[in-house]
Amino acid sequence: MRIEQTRKLLAAGVLPSPPVSQNIDALSIRLAALRLHFAAEALPSLVTAAVREASSPTAFLDAVLRHELERQEERRIQQSLKISHLPLGQTLANFDYAFQPSAPRSKIDTLATCEWVAQQQSLLIQGPPGVGKTHLAVALGVRAIECGFSVCFHPLDELLHHLKKDQDLGPARLKHKKYLAASLLIIDEIGYQPLTRDEANQLFRVVNYRYSRGANCLTTNKSIADWPELLAGDEALATAILDRLLHACHVLPITGRSYRLRDLENALQAQPKPAR
Ligand code: ADP
Ligand code: MG
Repeated sequence: MRIEQTRKLLAAGVLPSPPVSQNIDALSIRLAALRLHFAAEALPSLVTAAVREASSPTAFLDAVLRHELERQEERRIQQSLKISHLPLGQTLANFDYAFQPSAPRSKIDTLATCEWVAQQQSLLIQGPPGVGKTHLAVALGVRAIECGFSVCFHPLDELLHHLKKDQDLGPARLKHKKYLAASLLIIDEIGYQPLTRDEANQLFRVVNYRYSRGANCLTTNKSIADWPELLAGDEALATAILDRLLHACHVLPITGRSYRLRDLENALQAQPKPAR
């Protein structure tokens, strides 16, 4: 009877919200004991909403569980983004396809399903500087995290730095390193500087270990023909690396203008022409 009255008062807008009872506190403690901390914290407001909307018991329980699941998923995504080292702010939603018509939208949409990550395939994003290679690699990394995969992002020089640091680790410890263990490894900026023979060997070890174990995404400004030169001039090593990478590989060739130079070009165009 009291609940009925409260509902009526709430519906009439007379009561801002029902008082939080001792019982709700006790329920919150039980939820917290079950590690449903988000639901525990939100319980008073969820009860208030349920009373206001005259929810059925099953709808109320559904709202409590949904709240917990949604917050847990948000937290998982935030934590995964943090440990992935993906730069922030580059997503598929803010990729401007109109600026870069060479970027194949339907292919990128297919890649965004992350089936290629599940199948442990590779993706090569190729093109000149500024066309959005890193942006697309990062955006697909974010999608992979949203789809539940672990991601590790490194520009090549940073990855080489880690490999050098870890070169004396035994296999048992090495296999837990994120660049080996992640479902998707993104190596950005391949091609800006040639590798020493040692570095090329270390890169081979990563690619070889991950073959059939995880997906890889690489961005490069170089064509495949230039890779032997890039990999310490070692034709055999370049072939071994490319063989593993290109075995099941999607390629996104991107051409066109540099997005970085867009503002400069616009500014130059906006300048008044000098009088003759
Ligand atoms: P690349 O890796 O090919 O050198 P980036 O992906 O680093 O180029 O792009 C340079 C900058 O321009 C980044 O800030 C990126 O977010 C932005 N950018 C590039 N292409 C686009 C695009 N088509 N839409 C929106 N931003 C873009
Ligand atoms: Mg880049």
